[in-house]
Amino acid sequence: MCKRILYVEDNPRNMLLVQRILEAEGHELLPAVDGESGWETAVTHHPDLILMDLRLPGEISGFELTRRLKQHPDLRHIPIIALTAYGSGEAEDKARAAGCDAFLTKPADIRQIRATLRQFFAPEPAQNEVTAVHHYAFI
Ligand code: MN
Repeated sequence: MCKRILYVEDNPRNMLLVQRILEAEGHELLPAVDGESGWETAVTHHPDLILMDLRLPGEISGFELTRRLKQHPDLRHIPIIALTAYGSGEAEDKARAAGCDAFLTKPADIRQIRATLRQFFAPEPAQNEVTAVHHYAFI
């Protein structure tokens, strides 16, 4: 189940760590080092999920980029997971208000990232049940 995941992150060490996690899971990393390139990559590639550092260099913060993505009709459905050194509840409130679907804190916890990705990519149980009933009805 290969997914394409955009990670907007200016810290190369975090980028490398997440790249290793994603590759181990069989996913593809689309890297972006600031808000501007994150926006361009999202618009061009329509990733399956976005990991978002909130403190970014340049004009567009992770909060602002999240707001813009969630206002874009073709991109707003993409889950955005904040991955940030901001640890306060206030930062989480602000991130969720901007449109983040989940909030993880740095230092990055490998197991937590993996578990969160699996949660977002898990098949819908309700749909499976409906399919199973259909199959049964036509046997
Ligand atoms: Mn940063």
